[in-house]
Amino acid sequence: MSALGQLPEKNRVEKNTLYLVATPIGNLSDISERALKVLSEVDFIAAEDTRVTLRLLTRFGIKKPLISYYEHNKRERGELIAERILSGQSCALVTDAGTPAISDPGEDLVALCAEKNIRVVPIPGPNAAICALAASGLPSGRFCFEGFLPTNRADRQARLDSLASETRTMIIYEAPHKLIATLAELARTFGPGRRIAVCRELTKFNEELMRTTLGKAVEYYKSNEPRGEYVLVVAGAEAAASGNEFWRGMSVAEHVGHYIKAGLTKMEAIKAVAADRGVPKNAIYKEIVRSQ
Ligand code: SAM
Repeated sequence: MSALGQLPEKNRVEKNTLYLVATPIGNLSDISERALKVLSEVDFIAAEDTRVTLRLLTRFGIKKPLISYYEHNKRERGELIAERILSGQSCALVTDAGTPAISDPGEDLVALCAEKNIRVVPIPGPNAAICALAASGLPSGRFCFEGFLPTNRADRQARLDSLASETRTMIIYEAPHKLIATLAELARTFGPGRRIAVCRELTKFNEELMRTTLGKAVEYYKSNEPRGEYVLVVAGAEAAASGNEFWRGMSVAEHVGHYIKAGLTKMEAIKAVAADRGVPKNAIYKEIVRSQ
């Protein structure tokens, strides 16, 4: 059978299944034909905010029983949803925007279903992180998704320290009221000259993509109040200008040890490592202290 011939079969909505249905991150026209079919045919929909989902369903003329599944009821609701699926029903999980389970409570429901051997089918579609990375103009071959940085002070600092010598492009989600503080912390960690793409209100009327440096982004937002939703795409640390990357694969401590063995003092070694990895000296220093 040809690949096209198999499509209708693959598109059939099955019982005993959880469908992860990606929904628009702003522009309702981004919903897929397959997403609408699944939403119309499942037995029920689990939604992060039923009011948001009701607006989406109304726009496309879909009527379906909704139950809420969000951060504060995810434990007991997760069990209930799993039970209903195991008893023979099909469920579509949707969150307020984008791909369920990416930086939202859907992650826990999928883990529960995996534990109970429930079939999980992704229905792909919009995702803020991937849209931002694709349009950022920064290297997209290797990247890491950091989601929201931890809010607890110590955890947050530990996360920033662990990223100090990250060479892959980093993707971070941030709320508008925390944007300036986060940009300032990133500038302190990576240096003000590090490149960033600040992606705002993707797919919406006020969509904006600012390709700049961390230092300039901090200055800009001090006089332009952040509004809307943001994804930050930050360039990874650059390799030494010479292109001699002998240290790739070494930990920061091994890299410092290499220079100390070659006769440098500890401070000189830290400076050399910082230059090789294109990160500030204090980031290397902190990483050494952390790993001791
Ligand atoms: N599951 C979603 C996804 O697939 O992208 C992400 C959910 S997370 C709770 C929400 C965060 O995603 C926002 O705080 C913002 O950082 C980012 N986001 C969502 N929609 C966006 C948009 N239209 N433009 C920029 N960032 C967006």
